Amino acid sequence: MRKDQLLTRRRALLAGAAAAGAAGAAGVLGALPGDEPVRSAAPAPGPRAHHPLQPSAYRLRPMTGHGTPRSAPGRTPVRRKPLLRVSGRGSTMVLTFDDGPDPRYTPDILDILAEYEVRAMFFVCGEMAAQNRDLLARMADEGHIVGNHTWSHPLLTRLTRSRIRTEMERTCEIIDRSWGEPPRWFRAPYGAWNRAAFQLGAELGMEALAWTVDTLDWTTPGTGTIVDRVENGAAPGAVVLSHDAGGDRSQSVRALRSYLPELLDSGYHITVPRRQYL
Ligand SMILES: [Zn+2]
Repeated sequence: MRKDQLLTRRRALLAGAAAAGAAGAAGVLGALPGDEPVRSAAPAPGPRAHHPLQPSAYRLRPMTGHGTPRSAPGRTPVRRKPLLRVSGRGSTMVLTFDDGPDPRYTPDILDILAEYEVRAMFFVCGEMAAQNRDLLARMADEGHIVGNHTWSHPLLTRLTRSRIRTEMERTCEIIDRSWGEPPRWFRAPYGAWNRAAFQLGAELGMEALAWTVDTLDWTTPGTGTIVDRVENGAAPGAVVLSHDAGGDRSQSVRALRSYLPELLDSGYHITVPRRQYL
């Protein structure tokens, strides 16, 4: 990259960051009037209890089968559209990585996030998570949010309600067992939500999150192009979509190594969202 291009990009990034004032509180999603006081859904860094869960817990009593106080699935609103961005004060941005975990790429992504002390969201597929439970445990230990991205990454709009439910429940279960808590966020494969997906997701206590900036990294457009897409899309509240599995994701890893320090230098606060209702 030429120096003048870099400077131009830095100025653009700084302009975006300055527009929202100094970096402030973590992003807050989906505030509803009269909600409960803010409770962070972000797991605290440090060891986490990996409590056992009966296999049938999700089918019988979603998220209430093991006596933890955090679950209240009825309080999650049934949306008609997914959330696209985070709201909140300051120049907050959220990085999300879908389809993993993949032992070829996810550890590198975690290393980079750790180097900059940044937390992110991983929308995992159950079948990948089941093979890489150690990576979900590491995500827990390092404070990242794990969301539900179905078990096998199907196009939900072609599935029966019962199949969608199974895809979601099995994935909730493996996340709970490996990450240590039930997921509070759901993202439909291909961004293809339908009414059943919103309803079932809410029933399982999961909020629907899409994205603001699509890096299209799965097309392997080149590391520089991915970096450009993130930096051109940088704005307060933006949610960035990348992938840590599903193919060769080495460009996605290299791009993160480049855009993350630039976003931070530009004043963005990279963090995970919290939910204002339980
Ligand atoms: Zn996906």
